[in-house]
Amino acid sequence: ARDQIHNFAAGPSPLPQPVLEKAAVGLLNYDGTGIGVCELSHRGKEFKGIIEGAEANLRKLLEIPDNYAVLFSQGGGTTQFSSVFLNLLAYRRLKHASDANYAPPTIDYVVTGSWSSKAYQEAERLSIPPAPGAKPFAEPRIAATTKPAKFTTLPKADEYNFSPEAAYVYYCENETINGVEFPPAGSQSPYAFPFDRVPEGVPIVADYSSSFLSRPIPQIERHAIIYAGAQKNLGPPGVTIVIVRKDLLVDTTEAMKLGGVPAVPIQSEFKTLADNKSLYNTPPVFSIYVSALVLEYLLAERGGIAGIAETNSAKGDALYSALDEAEAKGKLRVVVKEKDARSLMNITFVIEGDREKEFLEGAEARGFRQLKGHRSVGGIRASLYNAVTLDSVKALAEYIKSF
Ligand code: PMP
Repeated sequence: ARDQIHNFAAGPSPLPQPVLEKAAVGLLNYDGTGIGVCELSHRGKEFKGIIEGAEANLRKLLEIPDNYAVLFSQGGGTTQFSSVFLNLLAYRRLKHASDANYAPPTIDYVVTGSWSSKAYQEAERLSIPPAPGAKPFAEPRIAATTKPAKFTTLPKADEYNFSPEAAYVYYCENETINGVEFPPAGSQSPYAFPFDRVPEGVPIVADYSSSFLSRPIPQIERHAIIYAGAQKNLGPPGVTIVIVRKDLLVDTTEAMKLGGVPAVPIQSEFKTLADNKSLYNTPPVFSIYVSALVLEYLLAERGGIAGIAETNSAKGDALYSALDEAEAKGKLRVVVKEKDARSLMNITFVIEGDREKEFLEGAEARGFRQLKGHRSVGGIRASLYNAVTLDSVKALAEYIKSF
């Protein structure tokens, strides 16, 4: 039964039980209409109430400033690798509208794991010139990387090498596969993202997919765009939240007419989504509905973002201290050594002495599920998203101590 299982999945990940119970009812009969939520028009008053309520609650939880739009987009984080590039290049082009010798801008990627690598690769791919020998659309470069350390740590402030006039700077706040997470924006840690080193006026983009809603985002206003797929802390896969500073909502068609930028599919244009209140085309209604229920639940039952952050911090402490203890006994190896670079959402370790299978079998027998590391790196990964309770984490910690 569900209550005998502790689900440590990396995403899609567990959702709060009360939310699922409510969603199950809504799937059959939304708010007494006799119609399920997936069978109602996305332009009707019921869905309008759902999406507007979700936006209001998200703004409240994260204290999103009024000069930022909140978009409910589709295509996952992966689509944002492209959309961010396309919209910000169009923005750049329009800023240089009268420049007859428009030159491809650099773009600075901070590469700290698989997801920022993928975003960088997509920028390289979309930069390919429109014809052999022609100018590329942009020149993506790596401003800092921890690849030589196999993505098990973060760069320190003096290891960043930003270019002076990049179209944007890009980083991934929490790398889901290895489990490295930047300390909260503005923190004094040597691993904090160095906002002050980014040249004035260069937009900063952050992929928050796997840490969104796990704790406050103290410096939203230092960012141009923050985006996150729903399927970790927000809801089922399907919707991706994009928080974008309103002055960056540009008409990409105008930029395309000037030349020197790639074509932008209309679905990827942030301005179109914003102008249409995220209803330019049929949105992922079920994912938005469940996300709306999760947001209500987080506000009403979990003490808002401060309460959530406190629980997540206690969960992280419980698991890391059990792991550090087991590591001291030679049982396992924690992948991320630097405490300030450790993720509170995805905790990775490797079982020593060829005992991984034994560890996983023991875990399975105790109801611990989906602990296998990402297929690209192996090992063990415990994801402690918001719906994973402190009790579940304590149970896992006890198992690790006894192993
Ligand atoms: N960024 C991060 C940090 C992720 O964890 C993931 C997926 N797990 C993605 C991007 C890609 O998201 P999607 O699968 O929704 O395209």
